[in-house]
Amino acid sequence: MTDRTTSTTPGEGPNAGTGVEHVDVLVVGAGLSGIGAACRLRIECPWATFAVLESRDALGGTWDLFRYPGIRSDSDMFTLGYPFRPWPRGESIADGSRILRYLQDTAADYGIDRHIRYRHRVVSADFDPVAGHWAVTAERTDGNGTVESVQLTCTWLMSCSGYYRYDRGHLPDFEGMDDYGGTLVHPQFWPEDLDHDGARVVVIGSGATAITLVPALAERAAHVTMLQRSPTYVASLPRTNPVTGRVRRLLPRRWEGPVLRWMNTLSTQGFYELSRRRPGLVKRVLRKGIERELPAGYDVDTHFTPRYDPWDQRLCVVTDGDLFARIRDGSVDVVTDHVERFTRGGILLSSGRELPADIIVTATGLDLLFLGGIRLSVAGEPVDVTERMAYKGMMLEGVPNLAMAVGYTNASWTLKSDLTCRYVCRLLNHLRSSGDATCTPVAQGVQVSEDSLMGLSSGYVVRAQDQLPRQGDRFPWRVHQSYVRDLRAMRHDGLGEGLRFQRAGTAEPVIDVSGDRPADRNEGMTTDAGVVEPDGTPPAGVDRSAGLVVGH
Ligand SMILES: Cc1cc2nc3c(=O)[nH]c(=O)nc-3n(C[C@H](O)[C@H](O)[C@H](O)COP(=O)(O)OP(=O)(O)OC[C@H]3O[C@@H](n4cnc5c(N)ncnc54)[C@H](O)[C@@H]3O)c2cc1C
Repeated sequence: MTDRTTSTTPGEGPNAGTGVEHVDVLVVGAGLSGIGAACRLRIECPWATFAVLESRDALGGTWDLFRYPGIRSDSDMFTLGYPFRPWPRGESIADGSRILRYLQDTAADYGIDRHIRYRHRVVSADFDPVAGHWAVTAERTDGNGTVESVQLTCTWLMSCSGYYRYDRGHLPDFEGMDDYGGTLVHPQFWPEDLDHDGARVVVIGSGATAITLVPALAERAAHVTMLQRSPTYVASLPRTNPVTGRVRRLLPRRWEGPVLRWMNTLSTQGFYELSRRRPGLVKRVLRKGIERELPAGYDVDTHFTPRYDPWDQRLCVVTDGDLFARIRDGSVDVVTDHVERFTRGGILLSSGRELPADIIVTATGLDLLFLGGIRLSVAGEPVDVTERMAYKGMMLEGVPNLAMAVGYTNASWTLKSDLTCRYVCRLLNHLRSSGDATCTPVAQGVQVSEDSLMGLSSGYVVRAQDQLPRQGDRFPWRVHQSYVRDLRAMRHDGLGEGLRFQRAGTAEPVIDVSGDRPADRNEGMTTDAGVVEPDGTPPAGVDRSAGLVVGH
């Protein structure tokens, strides 16, 4: 495979003589999405130069950061793995260390690892419409902690920066936290040397992290209490699905990956659709499953019956029923109550009960951060992302040559982030063949909707609502949360819908997004090239005479 990861040297290309390095694509972040994006560029745009800037000193993102006991996937690996390098192992639910190894191996196989620039945090990016490229500023931190500013330019900015802050997790301001005499831990920063042998542990939380941590801690702790304010929907799934083994035995090797991927995609999607359409039925099925696992007379109503519908918030997976087994053997109990305050020896609850604890784990969630905290501007004008609608959940209204890899919340992240990366490759190939320099999403006659871009009512999503871009009232300004529909829209449909392509120096990308988005927003705007498919034919919906794309 040709190695085009190296950039244009400062002596040539668009920045000749300026000493500033230029790349065709700058990928921000070397987690699952960033590695996937770099691999896709190598596969589908071998002509493109690119660089990956990563603020940490390791690749893997989430799967390198989180080190708490039991850390594992909660979606199946056949869809969390990349389609171009299918998950090679038999288990569908994998430990964090195995996922990290898979990412490291993928980066090595595709020659990405050698080209990641670690300790480079991208802090700002300004799009220059005349030059048709981004001027990016990153902060490089050396081994002594000295920070230096680094400048480079890129034609396309690909944000793969995840969705939460790495420097802190969400921690409610519990009263009396300073009085607590034991060990207080946030799962995001698990101390390597924390010894929980024989300890009394309280885990505050009821999300995926708590559900994973609690049975893992119970293996060596004296006792673990899962303290939740309100219950979450949980379902027990086998770590290794027996059907997977059969498929593997029956099918030729090259078919395994796609077949397992589709099987898992469709079953997850089907269950999600059923939950939305028949919530009562799904509630009953989930409850039956839980009742089968727990001792007779267990208070399922209080501890495992949420007040919301299935998939209003993420459904949590219990692997091989491990949590239920620990409840049955008495090493774990679930308490549904509120923290009144921390005490010297534990937690006082609103009910008056006190939970003694040597270790308290605050599995209270993530602190959302959009676009890795990068300050965006176009021609020097700051872009307020909360004023913009997201195009296909991956680009921003009025912002040229920028995409962000944001995965599904109701299925494996990779399904959507990989579709996004492939779509970006299509756009890049199109720009190259048409001679256009910019591609900008333009909304016409679309109303802003109040729905969340992330499609969940989970605490971390609600807390971050005022940081996220908006959704429109129709596709492509509204996300589907459906792989099957997105696949059609992003892989097979034409590129035109809602996008404006222009030659260098002609872009007018800064648009007024205050107020309504009228149907005639672009009246009078001129473009050089209009929109054409790579073969030169205009896609359906393109108004050639106006040189504009007519959105649906
Ligand atoms: C504990 C946990 C378990 C999860 N389990 C699942 C699961 O089972 N299935 C699933 O689908 N999803 C899961 N998720 C969601 C998960 O985050 C995604 O699956 C996936 O790892 C996201 O990959 P990413 O590369 O987009 O983001 P991340 O993994 O967050 O990686 C982002 C990278 O970008 C870097 N970065 C951020 N900002 C900047 C910047 N400004 N400059 C330079 N670098 C930057 C970060 O340092 C990081 O390395 C889980 C999340 C958590 C927290």
